[in-house]
Amino acid sequence: MSATPNESIDQHIERLHRHGLVDMHFDMPMDLYEKRNRPNVIKSHYLPEFEAGDIGVVGSALYVEDRYMPEQALRVALGQISRVYAEVEKTDGFAVCRNYQEIVRAREGKKIAIVLTMEGAEPLGDDLNLLRVFYELGLREICLTHARRNAAGSGGIFAPTGSPKDGLTGFGRELVSECERIGIIVDLAHINPQGFEDIVSLTKKPFIVSHTNARKFYDIERNVSDDQIKLVGQRGGVIGINAILVTSRPEKATIDHYIDHIEHVINLIGIDGVGIGFDFCEYLFNQLPKEIVEELAAKLARPCFISDLTNHTHARNLTRKLIERGFTDEDIEKILFRNWMRILRELL
Ligand SMILES: [Zn+2]
Repeated sequence: MSATPNESIDQHIERLHRHGLVDMHFDMPMDLYEKRNRPNVIKSHYLPEFEAGDIGVVGSALYVEDRYMPEQALRVALGQISRVYAEVEKTDGFAVCRNYQEIVRAREGKKIAIVLTMEGAEPLGDDLNLLRVFYELGLREICLTHARRNAAGSGGIFAPTGSPKDGLTGFGRELVSECERIGIIVDLAHINPQGFEDIVSLTKKPFIVSHTNARKFYDIERNVSDDQIKLVGQRGGVIGINAILVTSRPEKATIDHYIDHIEHVINLIGIDGVGIGFDFCEYLFNQLPKEIVEELAAKLARPCFISDLTNHTHARNLTRKLIERGFTDEDIEKILFRNWMRILRELL
């Protein structure tokens, strides 16, 4: 059914990866910005990792850290976009893509397609006009909040209950409607439960959750409940499975358990509703001073990294395990790239 005769497992993985994988959440722009005095990071650090994992499309998230809030949020986000373009210009390996045709063209030219996304609307303040500026700069997907409150709404917390009860603000509601109108994908990752419901009732197009996990296995309001998963499915959206919040227990952080999350989503909404949103960030953690890591762990949660799935060079480990677990070629291709490509084609 899957492997063709005489094909080794490595050849089988190679064949499944031939179109390139889509990872819809990666905090690369923040790192490029922090290393702005050290150019060529994208070429020397990221390109080899993406190539080793056959990554074809990367949702690259603008994310502004607490220490820049609120005054510098806009400046830092613009600085991050600037670094993405400046670094991409220096290599043939990447293209920043604004629509589906550009993604296809980039892939045909063996380039890795970068889709700019935003994690937390803080750079906009409460000024809807600025959305158009970011759109013109290439922004094509937005997640309204991180784990904090901003002018658009409130984030879900890393605990089973206790997220703010309020939904989207007036600005948040306008922002969602304007995103749908101009063609920016609405991402429900991180939004609190009430905000999630508001977005569902405000929108008509498919929405996505770029990087999350199932509350069934890790019950925190930052992850998605079965009811939320079903809502995404009913709308024809896709949920990207996050590799850092599969469990609260280090000994359970395995690729098998990552696949349990994939399977759970499939059981609820079918194979067309799941993709990957690895959110690889162990290397970012390792760059931080110890005090900041402790502070983040206290405020959010201590992520349990999966030792053989911590960066893009490990992507083949996931595919190997999907094959071993009996997923068909067709299903694996949907999980690794076809589902996200369908969303990008429909919405961009
Ligand atoms: Zn996130």
